Amino acid sequence: MTSRQPLATLAACTAVGLGALTVAPAAAHTLLHDTQSTRTASAGYAETHRAQPASHSTADGRESSRETAPEARLGDAAGKQPDSGPQPETTAPQETPTRPPGELSEKAPTASGVAPGKAYAAAAEDYAYPAAEVSTWLREGSTAAGYPDEKIVFLTFDDGPTAQTPKNLTVLRDHGVHATFFQVGKQIDDSTAPIVQEIIAQGSAVAIHSHSHDYTRLYPGRRASAERIGRDYDRALAAVRRVLGEDYASTAYRYPGGHMSWKNITAADAALAQRGATWIDWSTVNGDAEPASRRPHDVAGQLDRLAQRRDAEKNPNVEVVLMHDAKNKQLTTQALPAIIEHYQDAGYRFGIIG
Ligand SMILES: [Zn+2]
Repeated sequence: MTSRQPLATLAACTAVGLGALTVAPAAAHTLLHDTQSTRTASAGYAETHRAQPASHSTADGRESSRETAPEARLGDAAGKQPDSGPQPETTAPQETPTRPPGELSEKAPTASGVAPGKAYAAAAEDYAYPAAEVSTWLREGSTAAGYPDEKIVFLTFDDGPTAQTPKNLTVLRDHGVHATFFQVGKQIDDSTAPIVQEIIAQGSAVAIHSHSHDYTRLYPGRRASAERIGRDYDRALAAVRRVLGEDYASTAYRYPGGHMSWKNITAADAALAQRGATWIDWSTVNGDAEPASRRPHDVAGQLDRLAQRRDAEKNPNVEVVLMHDAKNKQLTTQALPAIIEHYQDAGYRFGIIG
């Protein structure tokens, strides 16, 4: 299976694509290009993307208290973002797992279709790219080595697996495209293992988005703890491998809150690099995790937010789209067909990061 677009389609659609990505000046403050605006936008993102309820965000940061905290439950990282308050799912009773999150029964399946040493099935190799390469393209733009001469979009979903994930997978399958799912390790257990396996079977990629998704633990005082991030990564990797097998490996890591949001992060980057992983942020968002005051509330609003990027001149061909498959992100699933068709119409092929 391939997502390559015919060359004629690419040529015909290039102008459309660039036009669609023209930046709206009013949105410049939310964009992520230069250092100053990155800090501004990212601080807001981290604040609103906080996975843990404020009542648990005490400053002690002790691992032991975190391990037993009531928020460490299945689906929590995805479902309790304060910016999602108006949505009814945030107040619905949480499902109670039969065992601690991240732990699987002995009979949990370990065989999968994942290619040895990869984060995706062998059939997906044709459209898979290492995280280090994609990250460089975002940072350096068209002057980067190996920068593609065709348009490539990487749809990414953070905060799964949840019950919302299969719904997004169905939309992707119906459109014949693929995405990268950044998984929260503690949400992987017997009940969600089939979802993780379906991501691979569908031709998409499974990447890591921490085990705990706990800002206080990973970034005490908003400063990245390389030691904690490394250990947290190891736990998440183990959780994925219990589902996909020991052959699973990913080059891609997405920091909860984004790399751009935290101080003192160089040592954490190195800790990830020692584990073969590279952080990857994004070039645009559908806005599904923004504060309620500016979060899009309909499909058209999400499409409009996608177009609000200002580095299109520097980086005309590579788009990494941040979205979420937390279980209260139904609007994202509703918008996904239009988002996919937007990029198809603009001549993009669909890549995965693995
Ligand atoms: Zn997240």
